[in-house]
Amino acid sequence: MNAATKSSDAERWQLQPGDVLLVTDIQNDFLPGGSLAVAGGDEVVPVLNRYIGAFVAQGLPVYATRDWHPERHCSFHAQGGPWPVHCVAGTHGAAFAATLALPPDTTVISKATLPDREAYSSFQGTDLDSRLRAAGIHRIFIGGLATDYCVLNTVRDARQLGYDVFVLADAIRAVDVRPGDGQRADEEMASLGARRITVNGLAA
Ligand SMILES: [Zn+2]
Repeated sequence: MNAATKSSDAERWQLQPGDVLLVTDIQNDFLPGGSLAVAGGDEVVPVLNRYIGAFVAQGLPVYATRDWHPERHCSFHAQGGPWPVHCVAGTHGAAFAATLALPPDTTVISKATLPDREAYSSFQGTDLDSRLRAAGIHRIFIGGLATDYCVLNTVRDARQLGYDVFVLADAIRAVDVRPGDGQRADEEMASLGARRITVNGLAA
């Protein structure tokens, strides 16, 4: 970790009206023991629970996205895709981690629900943007899985759509199919103007 990363991780931040927490794809199949496990994916859950607690305490909205595929989704190996079968709608693998403390009024966004469409961005093929706009959201705080796929692509779209973005640096993990993918994703998100924060930087 270089000095620049350290100083940005120590950045103080506060919540305000117009903020949303976007908990990305904390589903059993992406956690250790799942069919498409992200190394250390379970480690982000208790950290995300702290962010959730902070948003709930301020009366701010929490959204949770999920991969929600049909049985023969185009991203699966049998259909010529790059991934093993994962997050088939309604299965245990597609369920949110039992240890994730989502509030009862969490807004759930399902993505990649059609057989022939892949979606790494939570904005792609969903009503996320219109929901956030209707709720008066300007700033998106994003954590979850995986850094180099759904987090990165969601951040790209969020910046393009004009949202301010805060990446929860202590609550994301990368797949790293190619070594360094996670690092490159971090760099790209920073270059897009997304700020990196950690839960310990939350001003009391
Ligand atoms: Zn998927």
